[in-house]
Amino acid sequence: MRFDIITIFPEIFDSYLNESIIKRALQKKLIKIKTHTPRKFANDKHNSVDDRPYGGGPGMILMFEPIAKLVSSIKNKVSSRKKSRVVLLTPAGKQFTQRDAERLAKFNQLILISGRYEGFDARIDKLVDEKISVGPYVLAGGELPALTIVEACARLIPGVLGHKHSAEDETFSRSLDYIEYPQYTRPEVIEHQGKKLKVPKVLLSGNHAEIAKWRKEKAKSRKKK
Ligand code: SAM
Repeated sequence: MRFDIITIFPEIFDSYLNESIIKRALQKKLIKIKTHTPRKFANDKHNSVDDRPYGGGPGMILMFEPIAKLVSSIKNKVSSRKKSRVVLLTPAGKQFTQRDAERLAKFNQLILISGRYEGFDARIDKLVDEKISVGPYVLAGGELPALTIVEACARLIPGVLGHKHSAEDETFSRSLDYIEYPQYTRPEVIEHQGKKLKVPKVLLSGNHAEIAKWRKEKAKSRKKK
């Protein structure tokens, strides 16, 4: 799967994409991630990609044309037979969930458009297949939302997670209400503020059927909380 991220701050992505799961997925060529700046399609000597809003008001608006040219140049990099999706990142979009991650992970190419300042010229709607928000709050830019979507989709691609079943029983995997069972690691007993915090006995029993039953119950009871 290929991710193309449109951003005026491509350096933001360097360190995050160079660590852990995403780094390994890139090395194994399970995913490809490219960042692109619309500045290369700016049409003045200052490489401007933003301008003042018509009708007045605070802040700057990202212009349509540099982004439109960039989107079509990126689409040309992928064969027309491959499935491509253009996603605009905006707080006004549909709220992103695990179901969207599963749906988007089936495309061959995702083009993610990150905004800055006061957002985009509204005519950008003509370029995009869908608009996504990562939550009901406003960030300074679309770079964190783009990384969120890249990571949520990438970890669903076979081979990206170390263990084949890692994503199968996770929070949200069965439904958006589902919360994974509680997990513990060593030591067996932790002394904390005068109390002994113990690992549930069943997890130490080695009885896989009982452990599976306990996990099912706990996942359910956490869901009700
Ligand atoms: N003026 C815009 C509004 O009221 O909707 C907010 C612009 S915001 C400061 C700048 C950019 O950050 C947006 O264009 C978008 O790309 C990104 N952004 C901010 N919050 C976001 C969110 N919750 N989900 C997705 N993108 C977001």
